[in-house]
Amino acid sequence: MTDRVVQLVEDILPGIPLQVVSQGAEAVVFRTGVHPYTAHPSLTNPNQFIIKYRPSKKYRHPKIDASITKSRTAGEVKFMHRLAKAGINAPNVVSADFKRGLIWMEHLGEVLPSGEVSSFKNHLWSVERTRSPDECVSEDIQRICEQVGQLIGQLHHNDMIHGDLTSSNIVLQKKVPYLIDFGLSSYSGLAEDKAVDLYVLERAIQSTHSMYAYKYNQWLLKGYEAAYGTNKQNRRKYVEVMGKLEDVRQRGRKRSMLG
Ligand code: AMP
Repeated sequence: MTDRVVQLVEDILPGIPLQVVSQGAEAVVFRTGVHPYTAHPSLTNPNQFIIKYRPSKKYRHPKIDASITKSRTAGEVKFMHRLAKAGINAPNVVSADFKRGLIWMEHLGEVLPSGEVSSFKNHLWSVERTRSPDECVSEDIQRICEQVGQLIGQLHHNDMIHGDLTSSNIVLQKKVPYLIDFGLSSYSGLAEDKAVDLYVLERAIQSTHSMYAYKYNQWLLKGYEAAYGTNKQNRRKYVEVMGKLEDVRQRGRKRSMLG
């Protein structure tokens, strides 16, 4: 599968060096050192870029497939533009080809001493693996968790839903969190949708960082609350999301008890 996809992308982008970063059900992600035009000096990282490619699905009717590729790629790019406009940390889009399903964007994150990319998950893991229990709940980790919570609060405050919040879909660039992967993102002002987004992350933290999940989740929610500020109307919105989060947790508990 990957060889065929790499060949396809090489044919679309001749002469562009590509390194496969990940291969998911929806998209293949490549890294490249090449900007399609001229790297803009304001880019966070002017020497590294990500190319996300949605390959066609052979089992779909070609016309439907082309329409899905185009609308999903355009939807993701639009979402990223809205994030940039709202000042929410996420990669800047450099270029896109909706028809071919390509998004060229800024590369975020660094390589950790462990050799892994600096996702929120890998950062927490590398601290958990190499440091004392006290250092795992240090002020530095608390600050990062609160910043992640604040970032999600900002997102929700703009009625934007990530749709796949995990600790891998948050990347740390110089220890500052950025959101990535908007393939399942949507727009909604409903407290229920925001609560589900939070619940997905809460569960991801519980399953990948079980030892310290309670503290991490507490700090995430502290940062989330801070993003809503003290304005009465915003406070009401925050309280509504928290109420729904409790409902979603209860539904989740019921489901896991029933198996
Ligand atoms: P996605 O298909 O968007 O979830 O991306 C899959 C993987 O590619 C992510 O888990 C990251 O490791 C990597 N990735 C995607 N976008 C970026 C980006 N802008 N900067 C750095 N890594 C990225």
